[in-house]
Amino acid sequence: MPFTANRQFKQTPRMLVSASGMYYRTDDGRPILDGTAGLWCVNAGHCRPEIVKAIQAQAAEMDYAPAFQMGHPGAFDFASQLTALLPAGLDHVFFTNSGSESVDTALKVALAYHRARGEGQRTRFIGRERGYHGVGFGGISVGGIVTNRKAFGTMLPGVDHLPHTHGRSQQAFSRGQPEWGAHLADELERIVALHDASTIAAVIVEPVACSTGVLVPPKGYLERLRVLCDKHGLLLIFDEVITGFGRLGTPFATDYFGVTPDVITAAKGLTNATVPMGAVFFQKKIYDAFMTGAEHMIELFHGYTYSGHPLAAAAGLATLKVYKDEGLLTRAADLNDYWADAVHSLKDARHVVDIRNLGLIGAIELDPLPGQPTKRAFTTFLKCFEKGVLIRTTGDIIALSPPLIVEKAQIDQIVETIRDALAGVE
Ligand code: PMP
Repeated sequence: MPFTANRQFKQTPRMLVSASGMYYRTDDGRPILDGTAGLWCVNAGHCRPEIVKAIQAQAAEMDYAPAFQMGHPGAFDFASQLTALLPAGLDHVFFTNSGSESVDTALKVALAYHRARGEGQRTRFIGRERGYHGVGFGGISVGGIVTNRKAFGTMLPGVDHLPHTHGRSQQAFSRGQPEWGAHLADELERIVALHDASTIAAVIVEPVACSTGVLVPPKGYLERLRVLCDKHGLLLIFDEVITGFGRLGTPFATDYFGVTPDVITAAKGLTNATVPMGAVFFQKKIYDAFMTGAEHMIELFHGYTYSGHPLAAAAGLATLKVYKDEGLLTRAADLNDYWADAVHSLKDARHVVDIRNLGLIGAIELDPLPGQPTKRAFTTFLKCFEKGVLIRTTGDIIALSPPLIVEKAQIDQIVETIRDALAGVE
């Protein structure tokens, strides 16, 4: 099973057999309140009839169409609607099938972009400690999670990592963006000085690093990265696979922070996770580098059999309509204070050493059990599941990201279930 300690995993897997709205149902018929939107992806809630119908209709109309030198209207329509949602300038789309493929596409295009402009010596990437960018070779190379890297030998050459932005003693229990830590972006200057800007293609970060425990960017940090990337001619890539589609109360994190990157990667909420799909959004200057200009121009030979798959495009179009019709792209903003109060009310719960939140994301960090650093969170996960609430854990951090349709009473239920569970954890 993916991302599972398979050797230790002796029990029968917990089986989820159906889902609707805010709930999963297990094979023994128990409802499970979804505190994690699946894997940060079912933003509009489960099995939305409008989306189901659109997928069914498309499957009956045309199952598949090759995307090389041809297309189908759904993919172009979806691309147009997506770029209308993005900040001005980010107006070209490349479809993939997952977040990992979106990241590899973004990295490859960054290299090819510089080459197309006659700066092919820009081949280095800068990622960040505790960054997660999927499991392709590009993604694990710029990512900063050693357990995802150590079994696989040589990574992409020429990658450096910025420090992560979490300072426990300076930031503990900060609500929203921490005050401390903008200066950590200046590490980029040190890395640039080491290699020279002319060798570096791009910097990639998650605006909020979610998978490694919700590391919220300090105030001013992303702004500073943007300034430094501009100064040195580096592309700035925001990996918005989780933060895209309303998670922060704005369509994308770029809107929330007011910092516009050159490239955005997306997946998950793009189709409400119904049909696998990813997308990469590019600034016009990147598109233009391939489409106009001098003799050294190169073609972008890249693509997937399923790029812009008809079922995924249909699911995406229906998903966008639900997001818009129900105001889900801004709902996290409406719930912000309620959510922050609820999550931070766990401050006095047993074992809790830090709490972080932004948009409809929360993290509750536990004091690790000596010698068993993931045990308390995992035990909490098991107890919550028994009590009918799905949470996620990474290390000794509990991560929350309910579907954006969550009601206040359900937020209370998630938080009180965790409080009860923690009380029983040794
Ligand atoms: N980037 C980020 C920021 C992610 O959170 C994820 C998945 N959690 C990925 C990339 C990889 O996406 P996928 O699992 O669809 O390949």
